[in-house]
Amino acid sequence: NAFANLGLSQEIVSALSDQGYQEPTPIQSAAIPKALAGVDLLAAAQTGTGKTAAFMLPSLERLKCYGNTSTSPAMHPVRMLVLTPTRELADQIDQNVQGYLKNLSLRQTVLFGGMNMEIQKQNLRQGCEIVIATVGRLLDHVQQKNIQLNKVEIVVLDEADRMLDMGFIDDIRKIMQMLPPQRQTLLFSATFAPAIQRLAQDFMHHPEKIQV
Ligand code: AMP
Repeated sequence: NAFANLGLSQEIVSALSDQGYQEPTPIQSAAIPKALAGVDLLAAAQTGTGKTAAFMLPSLERLKCYGNTSTSPAMHPVRMLVLTPTRELADQIDQNVQGYLKNLSLRQTVLFGGMNMEIQKQNLRQGCEIVIATVGRLLDHVQQKNIQLNKVEIVVLDEADRMLDMGFIDDIRKIMQMLPPQRQTLLFSATFAPAIQRLAQDFMHHPEKIQV
């Protein structure tokens, strides 16, 4: 299996077969082995290229080693944060992730505006390793102390250029400063405009560039 050859293990490979994924897309072939090695990635990718799986699959592979079946929320700290510009994108990623992790004991939740804060807060209280969020709503939960970000191992900035276009730069910087410095950062963007380069310079550690 071509996904197994990229370094993904059986639980994930079989979940992909169930989704009907047969071959990795070019961005997946380029990104998965590098992300598995733990380096920071600066990836140029348009939507529709399979970029979600390109950052989710290696991350799930890295997180699953310490996944656990405990029911105690304290045993499920937030270990991966995916930031997106819109609720539609957050929702779409959340749905994809549900398919990818069906054989793993990792939990996920999605946070975006326009939905009940209280329900999201309760979901966070159960404990979940993977949080997919829009920037504003994440900060609302941070301010209300509903979420702790001090155990985050992997952060993804998805469609980073769109987040900057929408004026989220200060909020993104605020969030990045809350994360442990020892983490992996994966930045996906359609373009590498100067503002993206600056973000990379300030918050990434020797990122490898991927352009397919
Ligand atoms: P994305 O660019 O992440 O929005 O993905 C676009 C669509 O392609 C989504 O519906 C994915 O489920 C699908 N997809 C991603 N990777 C693959 C793959 N390797 N094989 C088949 N479909 C895929």
